[in-house]
Amino acid sequence: MKDLREQLFYTPKNGYDRIGEEQRDAIFALGEDYKAFLNHARTERAAVQYCVQLAESAGFVPYREGMPLTAGDRIYTVNRGKAIMLAVIGRKSLAEGIRIAAAHVDAPRLDLKPLPLTQEAGELCTLRTHYYGGIKKYQWTAIPLALQGVVALRDGSVVDVEIGTHPGDPVFTVTDILPHLGKDQMAKSAAEAVTGENLRVLCGSVPEGDPKDSDRVRFAVLKLLNEQYGMTEADFLSAELSIVPAFPACDVGFDRALVGGYGQDDRSCAFAELSALAAVKVPEKTAVCIFADKEEIGSVGATGMQSQYFDMFIASLCRAQGVALLDCFGRSECLSADVSAAYDPLYAEAYEKSNSAVANYGMSLVKYTGSRGKSGSNDANAEYLGRLRRAFDDAGVVYHCCELGKVDQGGGGTVAGFMGNRNIETVDVGVPVLSMHAPFEVVSKLDVYMTTRAIRAFYMMDSDEEDGE
Ligand code: MN
Ligand code: MN
Repeated sequence: MKDLREQLFYTPKNGYDRIGEEQRDAIFALGEDYKAFLNHARTERAAVQYCVQLAESAGFVPYREGMPLTAGDRIYTVNRGKAIMLAVIGRKSLAEGIRIAAAHVDAPRLDLKPLPLTQEAGELCTLRTHYYGGIKKYQWTAIPLALQGVVALRDGSVVDVEIGTHPGDPVFTVTDILPHLGKDQMAKSAAEAVTGENLRVLCGSVPEGDPKDSDRVRFAVLKLLNEQYGMTEADFLSAELSIVPAFPACDVGFDRALVGGYGQDDRSCAFAELSALAAVKVPEKTAVCIFADKEEIGSVGATGMQSQYFDMFIASLCRAQGVALLDCFGRSECLSADVSAAYDPLYAEAYEKSNSAVANYGMSLVKYTGSRGKSGSNDANAEYLGRLRRAFDDAGVVYHCCELGKVDQGGGGTVAGFMGNRNIETVDVGVPVLSMHAPFEVVSKLDVYMTTRAIRAFYMMDSDEEDGE
């Protein structure tokens, strides 16, 4: 009877009850690489740069139209410095389809306004910001922040800016009112306690020049920027400068099983994809890994997943084999690798526990996302899910199925729909996250490891190649 019960019930279990000592070591070893990745990848540009570095050391070379390609060749292409696509060429023709894992490397943050530098009353200088993606504004006050991005100067050169992430660097911060004087603020709702316009970043305080002059602190800050980067105030017009958390990723908990840090939505999945692809030798079908930009604001623009850059890249590969792009897409499969909301016992009322992602329970498999009746969701096909289940089970992947919170509690989307629109079989998978979209998000090392294993199993479906581990 016990056997029959076990056979009939579906009971997800804690991943640590399902693995051996050896796998535990592998999980913690991967966790170290993962933290290094997070520390190099605070913006999409930085993530792409670090990805190129890792890819090149794993044998990937820049793709050029017309280059001869054979099975096992490893290529990549960078879209405007903010998105990257990598591929390992398969044995089969592209007419048989490709296997894609798509994650995004942008994350919620504060972007500088076009004209940000302001001297406030009291002779303090701030940078005005417009937040990017879904944030709880109060979470961005009174923490150390870094400034990162590029400035395109009038002379055509582009300078990199990164202040606050290296040991000894100064940092920036958004100030908050002290509790002693916080009576008015504390009476407001959490959504209104800190306004978007109040997310101004403290960046200077020493005046310079004749005391009769105005804006002496602003002048002093501009002078420093000019000395350091050769820029003037007008150069802010052609800059992409972001304010991101300054602190590095670190272990969380006595047992060190969790990683805390910024931007794990969705760099946990980007890392898993890249780790999985780097381990692939010669797949049956061409294996593709995408780091997309702009997911947090709707996957728009030339670097987002709605852009035809992806189609252009795959079309170029197809041309070399005399295959039509739509024939390739029609037989292709995609894992939209994006994080899920891990069950949080402190806010249990927002979740329906039996259909929630749980930290340490392995990769989450998400048939649909969306909100108010699955609106905006991709809603994967049962047959496709069936094939994937078999592949994940055969590879010993620990995973569980979930959706995002209670029905009508809210919702969210991913790049899945945009891949589905291309007539590519697509499903969401990912790493469960606690405190998603906060400056300090938390994920489980086991879940990152299992997502890596799952994506590798996906790339190697119907292949004879031994799993490298
Ligand atoms: Mn995401
Ligand atoms: Mn997100």
